[in-house]
Amino acid sequence: MNILVINTGSSSIKYELFDMENHRILASGSAEKIGEASGILKHKKMLQGDKSQQKVEEKPISSHQQGLNRIVELLLDNEYGVVQDKSEIAAVGHRVVHGGEAFHSTTIIDKKVIEAIKENIPLAPLHNPPNLMGIEVSRAIFPDAPQVAVFDTAFHQTIPMKAFLYAVPFELYQEDKVRRYGFHGTSHAYVAERAEHLLSRPLSAMNLITVHLGNGASMAAIEKGSSIDTTMGMTPLAGLVMGTRSGDVDPALPFFLADHLKMSLKEIDTLLNKKSGLKGICGYNDMREILEREKSGDEQARIALEVYTYRIKKYIGAYYAALGSLDAIVFTAGIGENSPAIRELSCQGLNKLGIEIDSGRNRKSDEGEREINTPDSAVKILVIPTNEELRIAQETKKVVERSIQESE
Ligand code: ADP
Repeated sequence: MNILVINTGSSSIKYELFDMENHRILASGSAEKIGEASGILKHKKMLQGDKSQQKVEEKPISSHQQGLNRIVELLLDNEYGVVQDKSEIAAVGHRVVHGGEAFHSTTIIDKKVIEAIKENIPLAPLHNPPNLMGIEVSRAIFPDAPQVAVFDTAFHQTIPMKAFLYAVPFELYQEDKVRRYGFHGTSHAYVAERAEHLLSRPLSAMNLITVHLGNGASMAAIEKGSSIDTTMGMTPLAGLVMGTRSGDVDPALPFFLADHLKMSLKEIDTLLNKKSGLKGICGYNDMREILEREKSGDEQARIALEVYTYRIKKYIGAYYAALGSLDAIVFTAGIGENSPAIRELSCQGLNKLGIEIDSGRNRKSDEGEREINTPDSAVKILVIPTNEELRIAQETKKVVERSIQESE
């Protein structure tokens, strides 16, 4: 079964085509700067071994429709293609950012699902509209293939009310859906499942804290396989310090900015989402650059790293308490997978909690899934590369197969 995974943003489409039987990626790529004066399409056809053949096209891409049409042409192309006919693509899995409370799991897309995604637009005004557009365009191109929605929020729908409810008038929850939802669910779920394999212990018998540190960053407390708390909230702005997002601040900060500095709502939004986080503190949001600068004595970079890792450590403590017992901490995503320094600083001083990182193992460069705790550490510390696209493909396959069985 070949499954196409699509992640549509406001001006981009990212895609990956999986051959699920042979556990292989057939092709991947992206169409970027859609609707801008200059567009760019990158397509990679995987060959035997680690080899690949790449095609890059630089010309305007007027719409998502045009972008996806071109991607499909390349997937069918004589030279760069990987399938002979569109019918060889059995299903399309879409990443959808916000499913609100309507979706607890992956779902085959029908009219009702589209309506529900539309209803959740107020909760994710920047993400759900392009996700919907991707679905509509893909439905038109692949009218016979099931379209499946995999929601970023679904994995966190097991979070109990005591952890998701904000202490504001209850009607805001009942009538306007104001609550914590959490994001990065696909990644947290994927690495939790991989931890099960790595540790050879059933997920249903373990408590985990998963730490996803990419440009966006979040943590989840996972009890016996179910998310019971997470750092992001109603929007992805809450929780950890991120590349350009502030994470947790005093909720009264916007009033201060408006009253004292006469900033508009739009300016405050931009300040907290685009000019804060690591960038706000030290001027840079790329972790590699910040680590380099810290090494060469940049004081602002040092402060940024201290604030960043202190926040992670604080949530490790909070989630340890929420879970009552802890089996493993899992680091993932660009920073979590690649930065020994960040992992070390985040776990520093937690020995009395049974969390002991092994400096040597932590610093050993290895791309794969691995354990980096000392032999005596009561809590395992793991590095597990995330793979959200693969998880979307696996989930898509599962629901499509289930629906075929049910209809038989
Ligand atoms: P996204 O959230 O956009 O998917 P990624 O998961 O790719 O982001 O993470 C991007 C972050 O990972 C950037 O801050 C980048 O600097 C950081 N990163 C990538 N490689 C390394 C590395 N070797 N050491 C430290 N940070 C790294």
